[in-house]
Amino acid sequence: LAEISFDFPLPNGLHARPATALHEVVKRFGSTVTLTNQRSGLEGSASSVLALVATRTRQGDPCVLSIAGQDEAATSEALASFVATELPHLDDEILSRPAPTSEKRLPRALAEGRARVLQGCPAAGGVARGEAFVLARLSAFQGLAREASGAPDAELARLEAAIATVAAELRRQAAIAPGTAQAAIAGAHLAILEDPELEAVVRSRVGDGRAAAAAVLEAAEHFTAVLHASGSAVLAERAQDLADIAARLVVALHPELEEQAPDIPTGAILLADTLAPSRLMALHRGSISALALASAGSTSHTVVLARALGVPCVTALAGVTGAVASGQDLVVDGERGLVVLEPSESVAAFYEGERAKLETIRDRLSATRDALAVTRDGRRVEVGANVGSAAEARRAFACGADGIGLYRSELLFLEKAEPPSETAQAAEYTETVRAAGGRPVILRTLDVGGDKTVPYLGLPVEANPFLGLRAVRFYPERRELVKAQLRAVLRASAHGVVRIMVPMVSCLEEVREVRSLLAEASAELAAQGVAHAREVELGIMVEVPAAALLVDTFAKEVDFFSVGSNDLTQYTLAADRDNPHVAGLFSSLHPAVVRLLARIALDARDAGRRVGLCGELAGNPLALPLLVGLGFDELSLAAAGIPAVKAAIRRCDTPACRELAARAMACTTTAAVEELLRHFRSRSEQWPLVDAALVELDCKAASREEAIRRLVDLLDLGGRIDAADAVEDAVWVRETTATTSVGFGVAVPHCASPHVRAASLALVRLARPVEWGSLDGEGVCLAILIAVKAGEAGDVHLRTIAALARRLVDDEFRSVLLAAPDADAVVVLLAGAIDASTGGKAPG
Ligand code: PEP
Ligand code: MG
Repeated sequence: LAEISFDFPLPNGLHARPATALHEVVKRFGSTVTLTNQRSGLEGSASSVLALVATRTRQGDPCVLSIAGQDEAATSEALASFVATELPHLDDEILSRPAPTSEKRLPRALAEGRARVLQGCPAAGGVARGEAFVLARLSAFQGLAREASGAPDAELARLEAAIATVAAELRRQAAIAPGTAQAAIAGAHLAILEDPELEAVVRSRVGDGRAAAAAVLEAAEHFTAVLHASGSAVLAERAQDLADIAARLVVALHPELEEQAPDIPTGAILLADTLAPSRLMALHRGSISALALASAGSTSHTVVLARALGVPCVTALAGVTGAVASGQDLVVDGERGLVVLEPSESVAAFYEGERAKLETIRDRLSATRDALAVTRDGRRVEVGANVGSAAEARRAFACGADGIGLYRSELLFLEKAEPPSETAQAAEYTETVRAAGGRPVILRTLDVGGDKTVPYLGLPVEANPFLGLRAVRFYPERRELVKAQLRAVLRASAHGVVRIMVPMVSCLEEVREVRSLLAEASAELAAQGVAHAREVELGIMVEVPAAALLVDTFAKEVDFFSVGSNDLTQYTLAADRDNPHVAGLFSSLHPAVVRLLARIALDARDAGRRVGLCGELAGNPLALPLLVGLGFDELSLAAAGIPAVKAAIRRCDTPACRELAARAMACTTTAAVEELLRHFRSRSEQWPLVDAALVELDCKAASREEAIRRLVDLLDLGGRIDAADAVEDAVWVRETTATTSVGFGVAVPHCASPHVRAASLALVRLARPVEWGSLDGEGVCLAILIAVKAGEAGDVHLRTIAALARRLVDDEFRSVLLAAPDADAVVVLLAGAIDASTGGKAPG
């Protein structure tokens, strides 16, 4: 027996990669090799990667390799050289990877608190905290753990057949594209599938009387626990591979289980690699508080649905299902595109503040949500809601919707075994129309195909479903089904204002076909004596460039237009709306899309037809002045965004917006359009230096950090800044060079940042004095933040600080300020102080 002793060198411990490397060396010889970890007391055979990993070896653990067999000497020599020269460098690549937290600027509370953060893309806004529920396929199989077993021999035979099936599948995958990442993953999965230790555990469980699938699940659970216990993020990622292999084996044993829906605890955060819109609908049932997905495009129907449901969503989180375990405490930050694992107290407090801020914004906007959206110069823009059910429509009207601009009727058809009947559809549409109480409801006819598959409709499997038999293109195949929908819509038309809209139109014949179906439907209802409106407007969605270029032609045969900017962008840029690889290209602010939008709006107006826009672009506040300038009569968006869009329309001035639109059309890149819009936004606001909304007289902040965050939040709530995190950082740049306490319990933090829209003062009076590093040792009970726009303000803030400081050393001024009865009184005092010292000219 030979032995090699060494201290384990790798910072990530003995994870799959070094274990595989060790295993590869041993495989070349005939000897048996065992690794013993003298700290954990665990040993594992080097013939199994999982057994090696299971020794829970961490950096610095004393280890012994014991070698026995005929070629002991040669094996020892090879292993000694492996341990000395190769092993210590196996993590170099991992260690040289930049820490993920350095990719994006994190809010200070997260960066300082060293939170574990996964960074993705913000897809649906809002913040939620809850327990993780990882939608690995494995979770669907828990019922199998109690499954009755057949005879052990029979179970073993089933198991072997399943292993052979999965191995063959993996070999096929590895062979399709050798050298690619997919092939490498298939290879790694094959190694796990064939791991002797895994197989031994499964077999022994079958020997104990378990059914094959139960044995697989138990073995997977056992090794998953081992991997998670290692405390290494790299190893935790392997757990996902293991779960995947186990799931494949179970499905091979029980093919009927592939699509079972799991039981998700109320309030849980759902994590999945990908999620079809229909699956989200089936799983949601009001119980999911947030979504974290490895991949999904920003206008994919899954994301569109998440927004409609008001569920915060982060996408582009590669490996998320492996990095998080079900049951872990998480925060999903849909505003910034972050997932925070096991938030500390300070991080949780920060997010509590964020949640409260979002709620304040919502509450403030709700005061004016029901008023019409009229521009400063008196032009009305209708703001409708995009919905998928009568219940959603009711919620939309509570958010101030002027109508339903898009009812996605196909959502009624998803997740069913057969199409909803004409009666059921009529009931649902009628309920929506009744909820509208005279406001218009635009019902879109079936838009299936693309990413919305409906098994019972028998749509063909296509190589490019978005370019295939989608929406109106499949109507000729199912005339009766479409006519039943039209009859249901017509029935609802007896109860209010209903308009019909056809999706994906690219040629006139499609409109004529729907018109003739509509005439037949109407005649059939009339023959039965069923009441319905005689004249129902028929419009089309403009979402294919062909339709955009033929608006003047279509205008002769349709009553209105509504731009589906999601699809129009997808088809104009030839960039799949759901494909993260082209997400960088997909933008509705691409100059080509902007020019098409302009042309559509112009041609529609010239032809005397109303034109709306109901894609995600309608909910983008930055784009709003552009859409007003282009002349859209109506915008329709997810209900939650309606109050903000209405408020933004009220700030618009049509001539200025028209000029903006003309400039946007001359832009040559997406970035230039965005820059133009940002510049327009900051220029068009006229703000006084301080107003009552920027003053808080009973601030509960318990530290300098919290007080500064609150001051920044006041600016954010007041609309004075466009990136709170960046402004907070800018404040801290100065705060860390020198304390901003000016003595007497007063601090004047300040910053200059490109994210400040207008020079502003915010003030908090603290309920209890907080430590501010003051030279006189006094705690601070009054903090005044001075924020100016970088580069544009010259020395405004210096003059303002000087002016304020001069007044603040005055005992009387200070005591009046500290005793001010309300925010308005504070504003008068501050404005007076600055005015007096700047010779009556307010800076900024
Ligand atoms: C669009 O394409 O912009 C649209 C509103 O329709 P959907 O997102 O349902 O395809
Ligand atoms: Mg569309």
